[in-house]
Order: sequence, then structure tokens, then C-alpha cells
Amino acid sequence: MTTGRLAYMPEPGSVELREYELPTPEPGSLLIETVAAGICGSDLHMFADKHPLKSIVLGHEVIGRVVDPATRPTDSAGRELHPGDLVSVVYFAFCQHCRQCARGLTHLCENAYNHWIASPDEFPHFTGTFGTHYYVGRFQHLFKVPDNVDPLAAVSANCALAQVSAGVDRGGVTAGDTVVIQGAGGLGLWGVAVAKERGAHVIVVDAVQRRLDAAKAFGADEVVSFDEAPEPGDRIARVRELTDGGADVGLELTGVGSAVLEGVEMVRPGATYVEIGNVMPGVEIGLDIGSLTRRSVTIHPVIRYHQRFLKGALDFISRNVGRLPFDQLVDATYPLDDVLQAMEDSKARKVNRAALTMGPDAR
Ligand SMILES: [Zn+2]
Ligand SMILES: [Zn+2]
Repeated sequence: MTTGRLAYMPEPGSVELREYELPTPEPGSLLIETVAAGICGSDLHMFADKHPLKSIVLGHEVIGRVVDPATRPTDSAGRELHPGDLVSVVYFAFCQHCRQCARGLTHLCENAYNHWIASPDEFPHFTGTFGTHYYVGRFQHLFKVPDNVDPLAAVSANCALAQVSAGVDRGGVTAGDTVVIQGAGGLGLWGVAVAKERGAHVIVVDAVQRRLDAAKAFGADEVVSFDEAPEPGDRIARVRELTDGGADVGLELTGVGSAVLEGVEMVRPGATYVEIGNVMPGVEIGLDIGSLTRRSVTIHPVIRYHQRFLKGALDFISRNVGRLPFDQLVDATYPLDDVLQAMEDSKARKVNRAALTMGPDAR
């Protein structure tokens, strides 16, 4: 019997390493060997009981190697899969029969997480990415990782980069636009890079200087720190000054409710403000809707993404190898056995972005 191991969260705040027999994939499904699994803010939210998912096999960011492609011979771009190929996987599923899927809004599938929340005691066990293996269901998309891409550069492609790409697209960012990005964490850095490639002038706002330095390394034209602009009004004034009265597009990537109140004031009348960071239900803010109407600012909340954004994300990384400092994205790696330590270090912000690394690719 060949077995693998995984990190199961039976309830928020606890994690168990468990061993299960490797599943034999059903038609359309695929087993991959995990190479790297990123630790994302959402994983930390689940662990801290601030997320709707309460008991799951942890992890959704992943790069892995194809074991046997007999049950799924091609990726979602129609390219042949071979044993050992590196792939990136859309972490949510689309069922094809719910009302949203039927309308073509597959990223809003009502059954997006059914595969993930199943108990690991049931087949196929490996439903989260914090494990030696990960089971890609038949309703999950996956794409080959281009040969020149380092696994750690692409480990968050299926979450942060694809998500931000969908947001930048939703904002309609185009050459010559000014874009204000709130938050220079993992999402923010990708946001800078993607908006820059579209020809925008990018301003980043964050409280932490080392994160703003990273934003510069990823191409930010201007940064606004909380040190130089401690009050919301100062930051709004500074961004308006840098953008001739307000940015064309705003992106909220902080996950802080009150950031929205600042952000909608940092954009010009008629602008689009894309909300991505606040994903936890229960965050209430006192929004001046009358002012928004008078300025005709559109707020576009964005959750999950169409699968084409994951292929686009991988291609984006591939063509920017050597141009962007991808080695700055993940600053700590841990073996699966140290998953609790990795979560705690991430929560305490001792590390910016951690990843679990497994198998012969680990480093
Ligand atoms: Zn994530
Ligand atoms: Zn559906």
C-alpha cells in the first residue's frame, strides 16, 4: 500500500498530520505530488476561526507534479500531460449545473468548495494542498507550468496572481491610467507588476516600509507610507496630488474594511474601485453612499476568477523571469512536519510569505 500524508484542521486552531492510502483517480481527475504549497492569508483566517470553512484539509495554493495522467491526459489548454510535469491548479471547482455555472459565471459556482470541505477520512482524502499529494477533481482546471518558471515563483499563481489579474482586468486598467493599490503584501506586489505591464502609472499605499520597498522592486512608480501620511486624510490628499485629482482605478488589497473608505476617495469621479481584500463576512463600514453617487464611483467586488486568468498568470511569470524579483515572493520554506510552525510564524508576521516544500524538489 502506498500512502501519503496531509495536514488536517479538525477545528480552527488545531492541525493533525494524517496518513492515508493514495487514491486511484476517477475519470477526469488527477493525482499530483505536491512540490510547494503556499501559506495564504485565507489559510491563516481559517486557522484563526475568522473564515466560513471550519474543518478542512488545509491549503489551496499549490505547484505539483503529475503522477499518472491516464485519467486526465491534457491540461485545461489542451496540452498533453506527462508523468512529472509541473502543474498549477485552480483551487476551486465549477460544477457545471448550478444556476451560476449555467449562466457562465463559473467562478461563482455554488458548489465551488464541496470537494475541499469533505472529510479526509473519505475518498479521495487529499483535498487540500498541505500534503504530500493533492487530488485534482474533474471539475477543477489545471495548467502546465512553463519550463523556465521556478516552483516557488509560481506557488501563489493559482490564488494571489490569478486573483489580482482578474481584478486588474475588472478595473479595465489600460495604458496611461493611474492606478492606486492599497496594500503591498503578496496580492499587492502582483497587482503592481500586472498593472505596470498594462502600461499604468502605479501608486502603492502601505504602512510597512519593507513592503513598500518590495513594491518598488516590482515596479511601483510612487509609494505612500503611513509614516509620511499618518492620517487617512493625508493619504487621500497625497494620492490625489500624485494623480491630478484622483486615480483612474483603485485596487483594495489590504483586507482592512476601513481601507475602502480611503480608497474610494483616492480615485477620480467616474473611476472604478476594485474590492478584493475584504473577503470575510461581517466586515461593516460606514460608507457615504451619497458622496459615491455624486462622484459616480463604481465599486466592483471580485471573488475567485475565470480559469483563463490562471493560464495568463503562469505565462506572465514565464515572460518576466529575469525582469522581476520573483525570489522575493517566498521568504521562508518549511517541511510538512513543521506546518504548525509555518502557520504561527506567518501569523506573527515573522515571515512575509511562507511555503511548505515537499519531495525531491524541496529546498
Ligand atoms: Zn490564497
Ligand atoms: Zn456550479
